[in-house]
Amino acid sequence: MRLKDNDVEMKIESTNLWLPYTQMQTAPEPLRVLSTNGCKIILEDGRELIDGISSWWSACHGYNHPHIVAEMEKQLKIMPHVMFAGLMHEQASRLASRLCAITPPGLNKVFFGDSGSVAVEIALKLALQYWRNVEKPHKDRFICFKNGYHGDTMGAMSVSDPEKSLHKAFRNSVIKQYVLDIPSDEYSFAEFDSLLASIHGNVAGLIIEPLVQGAGGMIFHSADTLAELHRIAKKHHILFIADEIATGFGRTGSMFACDEAGITPDIMCLGKALTGGAITLGATLATDDIFNSFLSDKPEDAFMHGPTFMANPLACSAANASLDLFEHEPRLKQVEAIEAQLVAELTQCESLPHVVDVRVKGAIGVVQVNVEKIDLYAMRPEFAKRGVWLRPFKDVIYIMPPFTISKDELSQLTGAVRMMLQP
Ligand SMILES: *Cc1c(COP(=O)(O)O)cnc(C)c1O
Repeated sequence: MRLKDNDVEMKIESTNLWLPYTQMQTAPEPLRVLSTNGCKIILEDGRELIDGISSWWSACHGYNHPHIVAEMEKQLKIMPHVMFAGLMHEQASRLASRLCAITPPGLNKVFFGDSGSVAVEIALKLALQYWRNVEKPHKDRFICFKNGYHGDTMGAMSVSDPEKSLHKAFRNSVIKQYVLDIPSDEYSFAEFDSLLASIHGNVAGLIIEPLVQGAGGMIFHSADTLAELHRIAKKHHILFIADEIATGFGRTGSMFACDEAGITPDIMCLGKALTGGAITLGATLATDDIFNSFLSDKPEDAFMHGPTFMANPLACSAANASLDLFEHEPRLKQVEAIEAQLVAELTQCESLPHVVDVRVKGAIGVVQVNVEKIDLYAMRPEFAKRGVWLRPFKDVIYIMPPFTISKDELSQLTGAVRMMLQP
């Protein structure tokens, strides 16, 4: 093995790594993490960062929660993995029952996947095959929304906003879609309604991130809007797919964003905080109506999907442990307290120069700025220097902390945001 030539200046030292969403030619060296603990990311150089974004919104109980670690250790010793065709296990069946019990009534079947994007792929395939099964094969397109984001795999990418998203290079997508604005008033809802009336014959489903569009820029819509979208979709026989991969498990203030609108989607996607952020797992939930359409005496009517690591027992044990914590610890109360603190502390940013909007929903705090005046990407390393882990993107600085964060730690996060925007 040859050591690195000292006089070759290398932008990224880890020569064999290819990092996500990263221009490898110009990106600064990534920070080297040694370990995690509670709400802290501990770097190799000894610095500790308060994590303001929960490792892409997943670590809702903080890191290394002792209960999750203990349950995973137990599972690791008896069975880290077993295939899931022709076999099943207690961790998966327990998890499926518990998920059906806490999600909106009517979602009674769980198909496990291995990540959020795969949960979305499964949802799209279920919707397409559902319409085939009921002999309406022309219903093969999807309605999705501007600023929507549903994952990085081909199908999930196809129902993300092709203009604004990360996926411009792949604009000619595999799935045929209508990319619409989320209606906001009576007039645009009427337009939406009449559009759906004219196209429903070739629309399989509508997919939306309920209440909060995450990676598209942390854009909110109301529970009334969500309920109305659901009503109109159902009226036109369009399957309603709720992608709760980011919003699920308390993030927006209720256990699921759909709860706030009082709706049951036909299909719901879960991921991210499903395991408390400890390990990857996805789940796609469906109603009995969807499930029953796949029942017949013909093998080819079955749902043709099955990732190698689906329902991984270790991941299911983490998810079961995470649900224990939601049962035994006051997570939704903590979200409420975080929301109040974010409102109190982030609204102070409203008067700072080039701040366009400050908005808070549950444990999501957003400061939107004018990017012609402020370079948010240049700000990223500055946050780490101030002891916090925040990663602004597009035109927003956002905080989505672990629900277990202390008042003082959260103040340090909001303080860092304020300080960074001060002239
Ligand atoms: C993160 C995310 C996904 C993709 O999940 P991965 O686990 O990264 O594949 C899909 N939909 C939404 C709303 C997300 O936030």
